[in-house]
Amino acid sequence: MAATAAIHPMRAPVPLSPMSQAILRVILGDQLSRDIAALSGHAPDDVVLMAEVMGECTYVPHHPQKITLVLSAMRHFAAALTARGVTVRYIRLDDPANTQSLTAEVLRAADEVKPARIAVTEPGEYRVLQDIKTWNSETGLPVDMLEDDRFLASRRFFETWARGKTQLRMEFFYREMRRAHAILMEGDDPEGGKWNYDSENRKRLPAGVTPPQPKRFPPDAVTREVMALVAKTFPDHYGSLDNFDYPVTARDAQAGFADFLAHRLRDFGDWQDAMAADQSWMFHALVSAPLNLGLLDAKKLCQAAEAAYRAGKAPLNAVEGFIRQILGWREFIRGIYWHHMPDYATRNALGATRALPEFYWTAETHMRCMAQAIGQTMTHAYAHHIQRLMITGNFALLAGLHPDGVDEWYLAVYADAYEWVEMPNTRGMALHADGGIVGSKPYAASGAYINRMSDYCGKCHYDVTDAAGDRACPFNALYWDFIARHAERFAANPRMAMPVRSFQKMSAERRSALRARAAWLLQQIDQGAKL
Ligand SMILES: Cc1cc2nc3c(=O)[nH]c(=O)nc-3n(C[C@H](O)[C@H](O)[C@H](O)COP(=O)(O)OP(=O)(O)OC[C@H]3O[C@@H](n4cnc5c(N)ncnc54)[C@H](O)[C@@H]3O)c2cc1C
Ligand code: SF4
Repeated sequence: MAATAAIHPMRAPVPLSPMSQAILRVILGDQLSRDIAALSGHAPDDVVLMAEVMGECTYVPHHPQKITLVLSAMRHFAAALTARGVTVRYIRLDDPANTQSLTAEVLRAADEVKPARIAVTEPGEYRVLQDIKTWNSETGLPVDMLEDDRFLASRRFFETWARGKTQLRMEFFYREMRRAHAILMEGDDPEGGKWNYDSENRKRLPAGVTPPQPKRFPPDAVTREVMALVAKTFPDHYGSLDNFDYPVTARDAQAGFADFLAHRLRDFGDWQDAMAADQSWMFHALVSAPLNLGLLDAKKLCQAAEAAYRAGKAPLNAVEGFIRQILGWREFIRGIYWHHMPDYATRNALGATRALPEFYWTAETHMRCMAQAIGQTMTHAYAHHIQRLMITGNFALLAGLHPDGVDEWYLAVYADAYEWVEMPNTRGMALHADGGIVGSKPYAASGAYINRMSDYCGKCHYDVTDAAGDRACPFNALYWDFIARHAERFAANPRMAMPVRSFQKMSAERRSALRARAAWLLQQIDQGAKL
């Protein structure tokens, strides 16, 4: 297990028992993997520290289901370690002695346990890394920060790949990853002759097709105890706790994934981008929350999907599409995060300034697509990728919402949200606020796209075929206004020049009608209207 950083003592160590060789092994809330680096070489005298702290629950107002998921999964993981004979110092959120800060808990543990050193796996978030960097000077103990080898691309692998490139594109990174891990390959060539079957992943769900209901996991006694604590402690956080049914152990997470393999993977490819009213899950895998916690292993998920293809149980477009999300997008997004932090967190390339409208927190809007995506987020702490990107993200992009407010929302409301994955998706992919690091063009779309990929529009208050009238779909005028606002920048982008030209070819009357409608909509947002 490679240590990515050994932070050496800056001052004299706290007095230790001269014989102590014990290691204080710190496990963070999203490091719940049996083989996590910080546990490797564990000896009987070592102590594992796990702490539920207020600071982590409140740095954004997390959905109560997300807090429940993390705390319950931590408690189950700690119990499994204890059953293996590991000494676990577990600090509960409501423990009166809890200092409610991770660093303060490490200090307290160092003081009481008197270890010889501290071991921790590198954290997922830049913010936590800054805290860990203080542990050595705060405790006087050597701190071994170990590489998080649950990811298929180490940070060093990504840096080596990125070196010397003027543009970092997921597609080329993904090909490297396919080669490096020998996944879905025929010798040196991609299985089936093509790297990417994205063009076969964009079908609308036909009428009459109902996605199968996924296996869910009703709360056990440990989870119910956590739910009561969360309900009492965070009564004002956005979202409902009533429907909590996430897997909180590795075994249940695996059963959830097996259910995907058996019932949804086959159709995942065709309907990956499709949306349907009152269908929260479609054919998606629902693995992000347990995967990001460490309850599932990314490589094993890819290998299992590949095995399903080789056994003739799922077509190539579905399996390649699924593997691309995990081996490609997930690893690429993490690489981008670490490559560009901390500067990335301040990027606002399109100069967006508008505050997040209240309806993102209430789902009270006449826009049916938004009400559906936000409503199911409140109920399940989940929306699938196209809802996040092309509904709530697209609206935020077109309306010029400030990336800070949008980032905070996405980080708070989804059960799978951690900054390393949330931020490049939000600031980069959805808002283009990184100026084109994640994607070469903004994912901007009018109502026509939403109508093509969903059945939302038929029963909407607004008319998707109209752009400038009183009941015109807001996405239409906002789309053209967005193109007009950024015409100069986009005219120079080969993938955006066409809509700029289309706008410019419209009659002056049409252009001013669209812009007047957009100005009115934006004013309504600023005045707190539901739209
Ligand atoms: C604005 C925005 C914010 C997002 N925030 C998060 C977040 O906080 N946490 C998170 O895990 N994902 C995030 N995503 C990516 C993606 O939407 C979710 O991973 C996915 O919806 C999770 O559902 P699933 O497990 O059913 O995914 P599936 O559609 O079944 O995909 C399988 C897996 O692929 C991975 N994956 C797919 N797309 C991406 C991506 N763009 N980036 C990283 N991994 C990906 C995930 O691990 C996912 O579980 C965000 C996307 C957008 C557009
Ligand atoms: S008409 Fe417009 S606002 Fe209504 S569901 Fe369709 S895209 Fe959304």
